[in-house]
Amino acid sequence: MVKETIRVYARVKPLGRRQQAGIYSVDEEEKSVSSLEIIVPRDLADGFVNNKRESYKFKFQKIFDQEAKQDVVFESIAKPVAECALAGYNGTIFAYGQTGSGKTFTITGGAERYSDRGIIPRTLSYIFHQLQKDSSKVYTTHVSYLEIYNECGYDLLDPRHEASKLDDLPKVTIMEDPDQNIHLKNLSLQQAANEEEALNLLFLGDTNRMIAETPMNQASTRSHCIFTIHISSKEPGSATIRRSKLHLVDLAGSERVTKTGVGGHLLTEAKYINLSLHYLEQVIIALAEKNRSHIPYRNSMMTSVLRDSLGGNCMTTMIATLSLDKRNIDESISTCRFAQRVALIKNEAVLNEEVDPRLMIAQLKKEIQDLKDELALVTGEQRTTELSQEERLRLDELIQRFLEDNDPESTLDVGPDMRKIKYCFVHMKQLMNHSKISEEKLLSQHVLEEKDTSIQVGKEELKLKEILQQRDGEINILVNMLKKEKKKAQDALFQLNAVASGSNVLDQSLSINLEERRSPSSCAHLKEAKDFSCSVRRLPFLSRQIGEMSLGCQEAFEVFKRDHADSITIEDNKQLLKQRFAEAKSLGEKVNEVRNKINHLKGEITQRHIQKAALAVVSPSEELNKFDPVEEKLRTQIEEEKKSYKTMFNRLKGLKVEIEHLQLLMEKAKVKLQKDFEVWWSEEATKLQV
Ligand code: ADP
Ligand code: MG
Repeated sequence: MVKETIRVYARVKPLGRRQQAGIYSVDEEEKSVSSLEIIVPRDLADGFVNNKRESYKFKFQKIFDQEAKQDVVFESIAKPVAECALAGYNGTIFAYGQTGSGKTFTITGGAERYSDRGIIPRTLSYIFHQLQKDSSKVYTTHVSYLEIYNECGYDLLDPRHEASKLDDLPKVTIMEDPDQNIHLKNLSLQQAANEEEALNLLFLGDTNRMIAETPMNQASTRSHCIFTIHISSKEPGSATIRRSKLHLVDLAGSERVTKTGVGGHLLTEAKYINLSLHYLEQVIIALAEKNRSHIPYRNSMMTSVLRDSLGGNCMTTMIATLSLDKRNIDESISTCRFAQRVALIKNEAVLNEEVDPRLMIAQLKKEIQDLKDELALVTGEQRTTELSQEERLRLDELIQRFLEDNDPESTLDVGPDMRKIKYCFVHMKQLMNHSKISEEKLLSQHVLEEKDTSIQVGKEELKLKEILQQRDGEINILVNMLKKEKKKAQDALFQLNAVASGSNVLDQSLSINLEERRSPSSCAHLKEAKDFSCSVRRLPFLSRQIGEMSLGCQEAFEVFKRDHADSITIEDNKQLLKQRFAEAKSLGEKVNEVRNKINHLKGEITQRHIQKAALAVVSPSEELNKFDPVEEKLRTQIEEEKKSYKTMFNRLKGLKVEIEHLQLLMEKAKVKLQKDFEVWWSEEATKLQV
């Protein structure tokens, strides 16, 4: 058992250039304590008559200042927790802070650079590397990804669903067993045999989350996301299994409704945007108080799910994310205050070991046999589990007689034998159901036949009308776009004319350009759109995409794409990907060369052995055991080549992971582009209707 307080870290997000410095300072006091001082600028502090404090000081295990990189954050925060999970303890890392302070960046990572990948992908990579190294146990790993929004849980990993709204995802509910353990019904556990599979699942979840979100419903700032890695391990031949769960939690934004500025009582009274974070705080307060017997875990789904992580069987770590500029001073202080309370909570992590069910079955079998023997001793007859054919026939007869007997006093007496009593009940139920069903069947058949035909005709007509309306809308949007393009061209023309009036050479080239734009190149665009749609289709879970667009919609998509900021990111990543591919290719060739060289050197050694053996036949005493400097040299050469082979091979493996990650990032950016377009398109359509 490991008893320790929750570890609490702080991370300060890099400030933009315009945001003023000097608001806070970091002081590394000792190895395991750092303090963060937040200095309230005079103009803000002056606004409060009853609070003259100008600086606030908070202690953390460690503070990651603006320059801290993702690998450093992983090494100090996540790696120790991952190690515990590998050893069989539960672990939780959660990020808490206002929207925009870097929670998602810290937990999942940035969307652009490979080096920006966050705690989840790095932890997966670390865990799978460790598992590979350890051949003394058999491991299985699963992942799950839960989003909680408005007290409802959603499974982000359900592959059967193509979400377009959060409600399309399967709803997850909480169940409590008699031992008060929490179980999540409908949350799928997906097996992930290696890093690549696990990363694919992470991206699937993130994509589902992104698609489910609309500009009207920015769920991500108000929902909690819990990515869980489940590890189980067993030594071959042993009956005990170790199971552990590692929760990586991206909480909802902690901002409060009333932004009033800095002031003691105002801060504590301000209301949360997010009710479940309010309940989280209540749980934390209750846990931090000594002698509290009741902890209100059940008030919200999130506190129920994280129950073990808070005051229970778990190694828990919190990261307070801070966006420390002048406007956010009050939120930052409240985040730090929350962190200070969390730091008081003690958890007791225990090894999660349980006995193999097979061993249990063997024990139970023995117990059953013992009981049977005892029963036989008491009743004087040996009993099998099943009734014999004869016994059943006799019971059927008894039942029949009982049912037909009109005497209200008649009874069905089968003796003190549970098997016989059960048999009678089942038999009677069957008889009853049978007579009920045959009655209902007759009735319903008649009604159904009449309904069917009339519904069919109505549906067809409605569908046609809908399509017609949709096409009308599309044409209108396209006409609008065309008008805008035309106006742009006219403006350009007008300017040109103003600069060089009479120079019709320019005019001509311009009009040629416009022509070109309308005809052949738009075909090229279309082709590109198709390519794009193909590439999106490669991810099986995103299949609901562009293929279904009408031609007009595709045209509009091309123009939209051209002007969208994300296309630059996609382009950049494409270039990077090309580079990495080339690097991987040349590295692969080099690895092959080295392998050939090693084989060649080995061949030479064998050759020398043969020669030596031949010489030994001629002069037996001397040659065989003599030290051979040439062979020795060949061996050192081989060793060196092997070393370089290993480094290159490892680099190649790293490149592979990076390439896969980049590919996933690109797919994600493309899906986002597509989604932005859908939103824009539907907005245009509504505008036109109005
Ligand atoms: P939150 O999830 O808390 O709302 P995000 O993680 O989405 O905040 O961060 C908001 C923005 O700031 C994102 O664009 C993110 O890339 C950027 N960001 C956050 N933390 C860092 C950091 N440590 N380094 C660089 N960029 C960051
Ligand atoms: Mg976020």
